Amino acid sequence: MQICVLGAGVAGLTTAYCLAREGHEVTVIDGQPEVALGASYANGGQLSYSYVAPLADPAVLPHLPAWLLRHDSALRFIPRFDLQQWRWCLTFLQACRTDRARQTMLELLSLGALSKATLRELVQREAIEFDYVHNGKLVIYRDKGQFEQARRKMDYLVGAGAAQQALDVSACVNLEPALADAGPLLAGGIHAPSEEAGDCRQFCLALARVLRERYKVCFSLGTRIDRIVTEGRRAVAIRTSGEDVPAAAFVVALGNGSVPLLSMLGVRVPVYPLTGYSLTVQSVPGFTPAVSVTDLHRKVVYASLGSRMRIAGMVEITGMDESQRADRLALLERHAKEVFPRAGNYTAKATWCGHRPATPDSKPLIGPTPYGNLWLNTGHGALGFTLACGSARLLADAIAGRTPTLDLKAYALTR
Ligand SMILES: Cc1cc2nc3c(=O)[nH]c(=O)nc-3n(C[C@H](O)[C@H](O)[C@H](O)COP(=O)(O)OP(=O)(O)OC[C@H]3O[C@@H](n4cnc5c(N)ncnc54)[C@H](O)[C@@H]3O)c2cc1C
Repeated sequence: MQICVLGAGVAGLTTAYCLAREGHEVTVIDGQPEVALGASYANGGQLSYSYVAPLADPAVLPHLPAWLLRHDSALRFIPRFDLQQWRWCLTFLQACRTDRARQTMLELLSLGALSKATLRELVQREAIEFDYVHNGKLVIYRDKGQFEQARRKMDYLVGAGAAQQALDVSACVNLEPALADAGPLLAGGIHAPSEEAGDCRQFCLALARVLRERYKVCFSLGTRIDRIVTEGRRAVAIRTSGEDVPAAAFVVALGNGSVPLLSMLGVRVPVYPLTGYSLTVQSVPGFTPAVSVTDLHRKVVYASLGSRMRIAGMVEITGMDESQRADRLALLERHAKEVFPRAGNYTAKATWCGHRPATPDSKPLIGPTPYGNLWLNTGHGALGFTLACGSARLLADAIAGRTPTLDLKAYALTR
C-alpha cells in the first residue's frame, strides 16, 4: 500500500521504518530541508524506559505558585490569550490525580519496554550509529522529603516490573564519581540501570539513510504541508507548496505541526508546545558523568554522547516562540555548573531551544482518527526519543489490522 508519513522527526522516521519493513511504499514529507530539525534535533538524549514519571502528577501541584511567580523557576507558565493554552492547562490539572498519574505511569512503562526491544532490534539489524550507550540513569534528589516520595513511587514501579533501586549519597557518588563536587547538595538518588542514551538527531540522520538506501523510501524535504485533502471521511492527498501527494493511507507525525492541520479537518488534538533548552559541551574526561543523570530539583538532564555532554532542561508553557532566550540558557548553564562544574568546556557550547509536542497526560496519541485512512503518531512530549520505536511498532500493527502488542485504547485520541 502507498503510505505517506507526514513529518521527518523521530516519530515520523521510526513510523516510516516499521511500515517500509512490512513492504509498504512509503513517502516521508517535511517542511524542513533536512530530517530532525524540529524537536528531535538536540534533545536530552536519554532513553528513559523505566523512569517514565509523567509531568501531570499530584506532586507538581504545590509547585504551581512558583511556576507562575518566579522568573528563575525551571518550569514557567506565561498566560496568553490562547484558548489552546488554557484548555491544555485545565486538562493537565485534571490529569494530576494520583490514580490517573499511576495508570499513566504503567502505560508509559509498557510502551517504554516495547520501544526498548524495538530499538535494539532496529540497531542490530541496520547497524546504525548514534553514540548509543547502555549506561543506566541516576535521578538525584536534593530534598529528603522529595527523595522519600520518590522511593515510594519507585516501589510502585518496581512492583510493575521497572528495574530501579534507591541509593544513599555515598552510593550515588560511588556509582558516578563525577558527582563528587555535588555530593553536599544531595539527599539521595534512584538508579535505573537498564536506561540508555544516544544522540536523537544522529539516530534520525542514520535511519533516514537506511530508509532511502535499503527500503527505497522517498523523501520530500523542504516541502511545507498546507492541508490534508479529504473526500467524505477519507483522506485522499496531501496539499503541499508544490503539488498534491496522493496515497492510500496517511500518518500524521508532525509534532506540534499536527494541531493546525488536523484542526482544519475538525479534529482537535490536545498537543501544546512545552519549550525547553539544551547545551552541548565537549566532555572533560574524568569529570563528565558516564551514567545519565537527572537533577529532579532543577529538572535538568545530562547525557554523555560520545565526546560530548548534552545538558537539557526547562519547561515553559509559553507557546511556540522560536527565539532562544539568553536568560534561560544562562540559567541552564548555572544549574549545570552547580552539579558538574568541571564536566565540560562551558565557554564553547552549542545552544538549542526546542518545543516538546506534549499532551496534558504525557501519553502520546497513537491510532486512528475519524478519517478512516488517516492515522496519528504524535504528542510524545518529553519522551519522544524514548517512546518512538514502540509507538511506531504499535501504529504499524494497527494499520495492518493486527492486534497490537499493547492496548491502543490507552493512547487513543478518544481516551
Ligand atoms: C529540551 C528537550 C529535551 C528533551 N529530552 C528528551 C530526552 O532526553 N529523551 C526523550 O525521549 N525525549 C526528549 N525530548 C522530547 C523529544 O525530543 C520529542 O518528543 C520528539 O523529538 C518529538 O518528535 P516528533 O517527531 O514527534 O516531532 P519533531 O521532531 O518536531 O518532528 C515533527 C516534524 O514535522 C515537521 N512539520 C510540522 N509541521 C509541518 C508542516 N505543516 N509541513 C511540513 N512539515 C511540518 C517539522 O518540520 C518536524 O520536522 C526532549 C525535548 C526537548 C525540547
